[in-house]
Amino acid sequence: MHDLIIIGSGPAGISAALTAHTRSLDFLWFGDGDLSVKIEKAERIRNYPGLPDVTGQEMKQSFQEQIEGLGLALLPERINAIYPMGAHYAVSAGQEVYEAKAILLATGVETSKAIPGEAELLGKGVSYCATCDGFLYRQKRIAVVCTSPKLEPEIEFLAGIAAHVTIIAAYKGCGVEKENTEVILGYPSEIRGAGRVASLVCQGREIPVEGVFVLRDSISPAILLKGLQMEGNHIKVDRMQRTSLEGCFAAGDCTGRPYQYAKAVGEGNVALHSAIEYLSSRLEP
Ligand SMILES: Cc1cc2nc3c(=O)[nH]c(=O)nc-3n(C[C@H](O)[C@H](O)[C@H](O)COP(=O)(O)OP(=O)(O)OC[C@H]3O[C@@H](n4cnc5c(N)ncnc54)[C@H](O)[C@@H]3O)c2cc1C
Repeated sequence: MHDLIIIGSGPAGISAALTAHTRSLDFLWFGDGDLSVKIEKAERIRNYPGLPDVTGQEMKQSFQEQIEGLGLALLPERINAIYPMGAHYAVSAGQEVYEAKAILLATGVETSKAIPGEAELLGKGVSYCATCDGFLYRQKRIAVVCTSPKLEPEIEFLAGIAAHVTIIAAYKGCGVEKENTEVILGYPSEIRGAGRVASLVCQGREIPVEGVFVLRDSISPAILLKGLQMEGNHIKVDRMQRTSLEGCFAAGDCTGRPYQYAKAVGEGNVALHSAIEYLSSRLEP
């Protein structure tokens, strides 16, 4: 049982992890091994204190040097679900489960919209986790909706299990080419099925499949952690970055606009301090 689990490796998660380290918390930190595409992709950044006029790559390098300099361990795993367990949280990554007294969400915002039918058929043929659910589709026909080339290793894994994989790539140049895969460039308009996935519709084609894996950089927090109060597609927080669930804090783009590095970093720091306050209140008699 750890004190805290931080989910997200953009500026908000980095800021929280740096402070968690300096405060000697017992914490785990999950995210993308490359930190965040939203750092990497920025052409020029001119509004971040201390790093005047840098490219996204230069900013990433600077963050990485600081993380490595402190010996911080970022675990490059995607969290698929968080379960409130009463006085603590259980977090699932692939087939592993980790536990902590508090959770800090710094997952950014997902820009691709939910697919009609996705939420209704989640757990009934729709999955977000290749490692957890791939084996259910041995020798079956499936579809994989993928929004980032970084997630292609998960498609390769699924192609090794399923009979046939229709890849719906939301970006050009999908690099998965196997005998049993077919790539369609686009984004699905619907997942259909009465109580269980039966087909997926894309570019006017209805493709019969038994399972649909939706692979995005980040999963909607409302799906990740059921019961979390949202405001639109943002997590509802107070000024101390507390969410509607006790022991759960959130920071960065996932809590709302403006989407900016400085705001994310500031909120990551505040959320971490709130988590420390919460953890010490649990120790008081
Ligand atoms: C092209 C571009 C240029 C920009 N330029 C500027 C600029 O000049 N100035 C400025 O202030 N802002 C700029 N921004 C905005 C800035 O990038 C964001 O506001 C900032 O990155 C938000 O940080 P964050 O930590 O909240 O989220 P993100 O940076 O989105 O990081 C979230 C991270 O969490 C990971 N994650 C999500 N879900 C999970 C999960 N379930 N398990 C594990 N990991 C997960 C994601 O993979 C991602 O790595 C720009 C954005 C873009 C796209």
